Amino acid sequence: MQDSAKVGEKRILVTGAAGFLGSHLCERLINEGHKVVGIDNFFTGKKRNVAHLLSHPCFELREHDIVKPFTDETGFDEIYNLACPASPIHYQYDPVQTTKTCVHGAINMLDLARTSGARILQASTSEVYGDPEIHPQPEHYRGNVSSIGPRACYDEGKRCAESLFFDYHREYGLPIKVVRIFNTYGPRMDPLDGRVVSNFIVKALVGDDITIYGDGSQTRSFCFVDDLIDGFIRMMATGDDQTGPVNLGNPEEFTMLELADLVTKAIGSRSKTAFLPLPKDDPTRRRPDITLAKAMLGWSPMMPLRLGLAETIAYFASLLADERGTTSASDADVARLSGRRVDTEVQRHKPGFAASKSASSSEPSRATLVSRYAKPQMTG
Ligand code: NAD
Ligand code: UDP
Repeated sequence: MQDSAKVGEKRILVTGAAGFLGSHLCERLINEGHKVVGIDNFFTGKKRNVAHLLSHPCFELREHDIVKPFTDETGFDEIYNLACPASPIHYQYDPVQTTKTCVHGAINMLDLARTSGARILQASTSEVYGDPEIHPQPEHYRGNVSSIGPRACYDEGKRCAESLFFDYHREYGLPIKVVRIFNTYGPRMDPLDGRVVSNFIVKALVGDDITIYGDGSQTRSFCFVDDLIDGFIRMMATGDDQTGPVNLGNPEEFTMLELADLVTKAIGSRSKTAFLPLPKDDPTRRRPDITLAKAMLGWSPMMPLRLGLAETIAYFASLLADERGTTSASDADVARLSGRRVDTEVQRHKPGFAASKSASSSEPSRATLVSRYAKPQMTG
């Protein structure tokens, strides 16, 4: 990379920058004094997620599909490869494009890392373990994945991306970092992407039935977004010999029935539960073994689910209040719904709050958020 970079200041590429995780990562890197170039094709990402960063001198957002090669004359010190739809309804919408994003996208970013002399981090996933037979899942577990089912475009795409990362490391000595992310939640999740935390919260807020797929006994472990981003940063800072893969997730495990109960109680919602068929190949249990992350990164998640849910509920409450055209009422709603004191000024300056406010008016399609939530959802 360029020699002119100040000590500690790096030029960093984030793919999937306008997505849920990407937007938080860009914000964290900019706050640490780095120059960030974000690229996104806006398939699931939203400009409003990074609206508060657009005028920042250290941030640049470019529209680009990583399935195509990306060129940049200046080069990068680090690349975080996050671009890929993450929710089942989105990655199954165009499965061939999902595979291309995982595989061609990885090749393009790995080639860019080689020519830039950058280290590169891959956002892999707990889905590489499929429907696991070992519980909790350690990194050495090789998984139980269907190569022909509806989740395969994502699961196998991510597995192939991991193999490419390790081949570039072995063949070309490229410094790689692979993190396997377990279910993560927080402000700026897309309310319409069908993931369980956003679905339950939005349905509970608008009073619709909470949709439980199957009997609700399947488990997941939920990591708050700030904890996860901290894990990314720590992983990128490790020495070149530390490749991972390393699990990043919160090892506290909940059934979907328990999650529904937590959400409805936190909101004080009168929503009932509706049981719908379990999507095909839906994993029955998932919980990370984070022994390696603790030892290698000194990392473990700090945010308890109850508190993380309160922040996430506050975010969705403000989003819904915007859609309903209320403003002053939203702060009271948010305070009531999140069960914590909300300082209006502080809340207004929270990135997610500001972003949701500024962007909703420029995205008329989202004006029907509340009514769309009354309609049946695709279950994957
Ligand atoms: P997201 O859908 O909010 O963000 C993904 C971003 O990538 C979006 O902005 C989307 O527009 C962009 N994108 C998709 N295809 C692209 C392409 N071909 N070119 C350029 N941009 C493209 O999802 P997220 O939750 O922020 O997930 C980010 C990454 O983390 C993904 O790679 C996902 O597989 C991984 N991950 C997330 C979770 C989670 O719980 N959030 C769990 C495991 C893994
Ligand atoms: N789920 C559910 N109701 C919903 C959305 C999801 O019961 O409205 C279930 C889903 O079947 C899965 C779990 O919640 O068992 C987590 O789903 P999500 O799509 O969030 O993530 P993933 O399946 O990729 O872990």
